[in-house]
Order: sequence, then C-alpha cells, then structure tokens
Amino acid sequence: MKIDQSLLQTVIDHALRDAPDECCGVLSVRDGVVDRVIPLESVKRSPFSFEIDPKVLLATYMEIEDAGAELGVIYHSHTRSPPVPSQTDINFGERWPGVEWLIVGTKGQTTVQSWLISERGEVTEVPIEIAGAG
Ligand SMILES: [Zn+2]
Repeated sequence: MKIDQSLLQTVIDHALRDAPDECCGVLSVRDGVVDRVIPLESVKRSPFSFEIDPKVLLATYMEIEDAGAELGVIYHSHTRSPPVPSQTDINFGERWPGVEWLIVGTKGQTTVQSWLISERGEVTEVPIEIAGAG
C-alpha cells in the first residue's frame, strides 16, 4: 500500500486514542494510493480483539465502491502484542482476500506493519510505502 504520512498518522492517532482497547477501521484506496481513512467502531471495545459490525462493514464497502475507489485495507491495533496477525485476524482475513491488513502496535514504541492474508490463511508481510508529504 502507498499512503500519505498524514493519513498514516491519522490511523496511528486513532490507535493511541482507543488504547488500551483495539481500534479498527478501513482505508479507501484509489489507483493504489490510500485516499481516505474511515475509522469504525469496534463493537467489542476490548484490549484483546476487535469486531466490526458486519452491516457497518458492508455499508462502508458499498459507500467506497460507489465513490469509485476500493476498500483496500482493513486496519486495527494491537495494544498488547506485536503488530502481527493473530489467529482471529487470520480467520477474518481469509474472507477478504486481496485486502491488506494494517496493524498498529502500540505496546512500547508504536510500530506499523501491513499484511496480506490469503483465503488459505497464508500470511505475507507487504511494504508500507509513504507517499510524498502533502
Ligand atoms: Zn489483531
């Protein structure tokens, strides 16, 4: 994924604001570049996992598609562990092949990593490319 530094900071700020609970949201991607951060509410409000209301996720997906972009990234935070997909994340991600999983780790120093989860549950790290400032 290619993302502007200020949009990535918006995601990180969301993670820090919701900590110690996990935050979640999606990123709209246009021509391979993130063009919008859409914070969502975790219905779980838990430090151990997150859950997006499936109706909200579907409505958000439709709204992004209608705007001519794509839901390219689902993001959430890990407040107690490294930003690596958990088994719960993998089970969820298998249903969204091709969508990147951006995870913000807020334990200790804030770190951000992005992953692809295949329909077979294979996890591959993908680079986060920072688009120019502005
Ligand atoms: Zn997770």
